[in-house]
Amino acid sequence: MSAQVFALVDGNNMYVSCERVFRPDLIGKPVIVLSNNDGCAVARSQEAKDLNVKMGQPWFQIRHLAESHGLIALSSNYALYADMSSRMMAIAGSFAPQQEIYSIDETFLDFSNLAPAVPNLTVYGHTIRDRILAWIGIPTCVGIGPTKTLAKLSNHIAKKNVGGRNWGGVCDLTALPEPEVDALLAQIAVGEVWGVGRRLRDRLTADGINTALALKRADPTFIRSTVSVVLERTVRELNGVVCYPLECESQPQKQIVCSRSFGAPVMAFDDLAVALRDFAATAAGRMRKQNLKAGVMLVELQAEGVVQEDLFAPTSSKRDRLMAALDAVNDRFGRNTVRVGSIEGHQAWHMSQNAKTPSYTTDWGDLPVVR
Ligand SMILES: [Mg+2]
Repeated sequence: MSAQVFALVDGNNMYVSCERVFRPDLIGKPVIVLSNNDGCAVARSQEAKDLNVKMGQPWFQIRHLAESHGLIALSSNYALYADMSSRMMAIAGSFAPQQEIYSIDETFLDFSNLAPAVPNLTVYGHTIRDRILAWIGIPTCVGIGPTKTLAKLSNHIAKKNVGGRNWGGVCDLTALPEPEVDALLAQIAVGEVWGVGRRLRDRLTADGINTALALKRADPTFIRSTVSVVLERTVRELNGVVCYPLECESQPQKQIVCSRSFGAPVMAFDDLAVALRDFAATAAGRMRKQNLKAGVMLVELQAEGVVQEDLFAPTSSKRDRLMAALDAVNDRFGRNTVRVGSIEGHQAWHMSQNAKTPSYTTDWGDLPVVR
């Protein structure tokens, strides 16, 4: 078997790019997407980055840029991003025998043994980029390397045009001679290496390990004894030794959490109860999508007499069919078209999302109209 090769396909400014597909008027303008309750910036267009908007920066600190520089802030539209993501993953996955979906905008592909059908991986990378852009309108970068850690760095090189070269969105480190790879790694700060967080970065730079190349050249045994076995693996991966294979099987989720902060203070018990039931229904819907069953964990038990509603009574096949029908109706006609009777009341607790775009791809009522 020949050496392994990994590709990382990564959506550029993913959330903003999803919005721009349906709002081409946003192209070329500084755009950010805000977190739940319009709290802080969680995605930034390049133009917004150029205005020095930081990741996670609170909206109230940058609100003035809307006036002065035309900064456009959108509420997060997670239904849209999740749907666009699954389309992107499906297209990317069709280019390789194996795929690992790593995050909402990143997927690893197995590029080992593609020759002779695919003689040039850079050209292949461009084909993937072009197809994702043509079919769903999302710009991506493709990084190719002998390990996942190097594929990640390669993606960074393609995106940031490291080395003063325009990579056109695709970089294949396996096609470059080692000294050229090292020259590129020498220009990348150690904090950009996969798995090196801020704290670790500070510690490494204090030890004089400032670049990806310096980390590559560190002694793995020394790193293991002074830092961690995890960072030792990173060092080995930087040297082309695979420590992290592709994880293709998605593990069944052990827990599903549905939580939101409230849009306004919730003072009444009834409002809280309605919110709780709504979140429970959403979590249960996600659980059914994955064909999972819930066990019940009893916490904070109360004395007899304090009655709790039975959310997870023993299921019958009749109930399964009912819930399947409920999910199907809501998938087709929009969330909460049909819901359990206990979720009602005025929903003062809903997230405040003042600038949310329509669910263009997941709700019949929001389908864009073509004239
Ligand atoms: Mg991305």
